[in-house]
Amino acid sequence: MAHPLSYLTEQLNQWRQEGTYQRLRVLQSESAAESRFDGKDVINLASNNYLGLTTHPKLREAALEATRKFGVGSGAVRTISGTMSLHLELEERIARFKNVEACVVFQSGFAANAGTVSAILGPEDHIISDELNHASIIDGCRLSRAKIHVFPHKDVAAAEKILAELDGVSGRKLLISDGVFSMDGDIGPLPGLVEAAEKHGAIMMVDDAHASGVLGRCGRGTIDHFGVHGRVQVQVGTLSKAVGVLGGYVCGSRDLIEYLYHRARPFLFSTSHPPAVAASCLAAFDVLEQEPERIQALWDNTKYFKAGLASAGFNTGMSETPITPVIVGEAKLAHELSQALFEEGVLATGIGFPTVAKGKARVRTIVTATHTKAELDRALEAFRKVGKKLGLV
Ligand SMILES: *Cc1c(COP(=O)(O)O)cnc(C)c1O
Repeated sequence: MAHPLSYLTEQLNQWRQEGTYQRLRVLQSESAAESRFDGKDVINLASNNYLGLTTHPKLREAALEATRKFGVGSGAVRTISGTMSLHLELEERIARFKNVEACVVFQSGFAANAGTVSAILGPEDHIISDELNHASIIDGCRLSRAKIHVFPHKDVAAAEKILAELDGVSGRKLLISDGVFSMDGDIGPLPGLVEAAEKHGAIMMVDDAHASGVLGRCGRGTIDHFGVHGRVQVQVGTLSKAVGVLGGYVCGSRDLIEYLYHRARPFLFSTSHPPAVAASCLAAFDVLEQEPERIQALWDNTKYFKAGLASAGFNTGMSETPITPVIVGEAKLAHELSQALFEEGVLATGIGFPTVAKGKARVRTIVTATHTKAELDRALEAFRKVGKKLGLV
C-alpha cells in the first residue's frame, strides 16, 4: 500500500521537474543590508527590514530589559491572563502615532487581517476586494463567509460599480485594499476608494503592512500619505516589516477595538506577544519619530536603485515604493535569475505562482535605508551581468 501522504511526494517531484521547487535559504547572521545566507555573505535585497530596525541598539536594549524584568513569555492569551501592561502601552502608543481612538495588537499582520475581517462580517455581508490583495485578507474574507466581489487591480471605477450594484441589497459592505501592494510595490488608490465607500455607505479597510514606517509623515502610512484621516474605519499595520520586530495591529474607533477584543479569534485563542516583542516595538515608534532621516535614506536608496534597474533595461512593473520587482515571466526563469544573482553575491528571491499570477513571475527586490551606495552599485552590476547572461536585457 502506498504511504497515505504519497501524493505530496509526487507533487514535490513535479515541482522539482518544473524548476519551481524552493529550498529555504538559511540566514546565519543578523538580518541586515549585508547578511550571511547558506555560508555566503551577500547583499540582502530580500528583507522587509526597510529602516534597519531589526538590529537597532534601542530596540535590542528594550528587548533585553523587558526580558530581564518580565521574562520570556506572557503565559496566556490576552483575554485570559496574557494582557501585560507593555501590551496596553504599545496599543496606546500606536493609536497616538496614528491619531486614532484605539488600537489592538495581534501576533502578526496575517492574524490581524484574517482575525478582523472574519470578526466584523458574516455570511449575509459583502466584501469588495482588489484582486491583488494580500493572502491574509483573502483568508479573512473566506473565513467571514461573506460574499466576495473581486475588482481589477486598483480599478476604482470597477469597485464603485460593484458598490452601486449592491445599493439596496441587504448586508454590510466592506471595501478593502492593500495600502502598498506587496509583490508589485504600487500604492492603492485610497482617495478614490474612500470616496466610493462613503458614497455607498461601505466600511473602508486598508492594509498598510508595507506602508507602515515607509509612507506618510514619520511612516504613518498611506492614510497619512493621502491625507484621508478619519475616512478609513479599519486601518491595519504590521510590526514585522519596517518596525523590525513581529506583530500586526488594527487601528480605529474605540468600539471597533473593544469589539475585536471580544470576537477576533487570534486575539481570543492564541497567546500574546512575549514582553521583548512589545517592548522593542514600543522603542521602534520612538525611533520612527526621532530618526526621520532613516525614512529619507530609504527613499534616496529607492530612487537610486530603481533608476539603475530601469537604465539597465529591466521590466520593473508599476512600483512606486522601495519594493521593486524585476518581472521575467516564467517561474523557472525567476528562480534561475535569483540563483545566478546569489552566486554573484546578491540575495533577491524568485517569486512565482501562487504568490503572483502565472506568467508574472519575478525576482523581488527591497532596498533598505541601511544599504550603502557602494552596495547598491555592486547589486546593480550583478543584475546587469546576470541579466545579460539570461537574455533579459
Ligand atoms: C506581510 C504582509 C502581511 C502580514 O504581516 P505579518 O506581520 O508578516 O504577518 C499582511 N498584509 C500585507 C499586505 C503584507 O505584505
